[in-house]
Amino acid sequence: MSISPETKTKYEVPIKQVEKTIKITDSAKQELKSSGMMDDKGKLKLKGVSPKMLKRMKLESVDCPVFEKEIGFIQCYVCSNFHSRISGIVYCKGDPL
Ligand code: SF4
Repeated sequence: MSISPETKTKYEVPIKQVEKTIKITDSAKQELKSSGMMDDKGKLKLKGVSPKMLKRMKLESVDCPVFEKEIGFIQCYVCSNFHSRISGIVYCKGDPL
């Protein structure tokens, strides 16, 4: 039996569509680079994410309950609190960061 995301996560955060990409913060960029998910030129290299998906993810955002601000979905996707994404909802562990 699989454990449903609700039991492991604190927040269910709806994903919104945005007109303009929300920039990844400098500190998040550093984290991405150090974990090999971004190259020196700032190009993202996410495992299992096609360029087409990446393009779509850039135009999505969440109102993050932990950082208490709007964050681009890519930053959310690589966040240590990210558990899963199911039909437009991010299941977030909600740990203080
Ligand atoms: S996974 Fe991270 S960025 Fe996304 S909503 Fe949770 S705390 Fe915010």
